Amino acid sequence: MTEALPAELTIEQSIDLKPYNSLSISAVAEYFCVVDHIDQLHRALNFAHKNKLKVTPLGGGSNLVIASDISGLVLQINLKGLTIKPVERDMLDICFSAGENWHAMVSHCLENGWYGLENLALIPGNMGAAPIQNIGAYGVELCEFLQSVEVVEVATGKVLTLSCEDCEFGYRTSIFKQAAKDSYIITAVTLRLSKMPRVNIEYPSLKASLTSDQPTPKEIYQAVCKIRRSKLPDPAEIPNVGSFFKNPIVQSEMAANLAVDYPELPIYPYSVSSSKLAAAWLIEHCGFKGCRRGDVGVHPHQALVLVNYQGNGSAILALADEIKLQVLQTFSVELEIEPRIYGTIT
Ligand SMILES: Cc1cc2nc3c(=O)[nH]c(=O)nc-3n(C[C@H](O)[C@H](O)[C@H](O)COP(=O)(O)OP(=O)(O)OC[C@H]3O[C@@H](n4cnc5c(N)ncnc54)[C@H](O)[C@@H]3O)c2cc1C
Repeated sequence: MTEALPAELTIEQSIDLKPYNSLSISAVAEYFCVVDHIDQLHRALNFAHKNKLKVTPLGGGSNLVIASDISGLVLQINLKGLTIKPVERDMLDICFSAGENWHAMVSHCLENGWYGLENLALIPGNMGAAPIQNIGAYGVELCEFLQSVEVVEVATGKVLTLSCEDCEFGYRTSIFKQAAKDSYIITAVTLRLSKMPRVNIEYPSLKASLTSDQPTPKEIYQAVCKIRRSKLPDPAEIPNVGSFFKNPIVQSEMAANLAVDYPELPIYPYSVSSSKLAAAWLIEHCGFKGCRRGDVGVHPHQALVLVNYQGNGSAILALADEIKLQVLQTFSVELEIEPRIYGTIT
């Protein structure tokens, strides 16, 4: 059987990225192309090398802030498809191409009786970006399922497979945000799921929203979707990137001191010697919830969500700086921005 030849790669110049990022920021990519096939990815990387262009991969654009026009080549990774491999009696490995939409795949898995991802329903974005910050929600993280990540090395075009251990996952982080930042394009992600229902209802607000203490995976999926829809603004209506800051991890001693001064501050155990603080509480306590600075602001119901009414990346980042400074001065706690920043900060 002959395989259809992939379509030619079209590289365009001066493309406005506004439709490609959930903050709806208008900024121009010097070069831009959509990659539908692995051959096109290799051709795009060759083009970038020949012309000495920096390469910026893009998925659904729901975890980035574009501070200015982006020089070099922006690649939207649109590789599609999935393959399934049974591994043990009750388990199977599913290899998802990087351009598959995350939530659509969570729904597809549930419909087919492949369980585990229900708590991660409705997270925006694509499969290829999920390992970048080890996406997590409602007490579950991607790394609990991840078997391997297929990548193409930007510098050499080499195809490599990284194991879960290689990815060095942590809370909203991985090797792709640290030592291997900008080194790889992720082309596929393999997750190990269960054919037997396996539920996790440890997260307090999820547990409280369930009517049964032995819920089915479908009930968990529905509860997570309901909570998220009631809590988080839809980027299609109010442009945002979800949580703008990570929940800070501090030494337990410092957390204990903060608990004395601020008994309402939510504090969660993180490791034997550290605790996680609720960033939303810190920001709200500093009076930013619902604030507006020109065409950007903080969502009126979600202090962790910065929103773009009609502003630009610089205005969003200026507000983020103001919040960081105020939180530092008030609590001596440093907030870290969660989305990746591209372009030059002015
Ligand atoms: C309303 C809302 C709610 C959210 N809730 C959550 C949540 O509960 N938990 C959570 O963890 N996150 C959450 N997020 C953040 C975001 O959805 C995730 O980080 C998601 O994985 C980003 O996917 P994306 O395809 O949009 O990535 P993009 O924004 O396109 O890219 C993010 C980063 O990954 C890189 N990247 C993308 N694709 C590839 C690839 N194929 N190869 C190499 N690098 C790549 C980009 O260069 C960029 O640095 C939320 C965002 C929004 C808007």
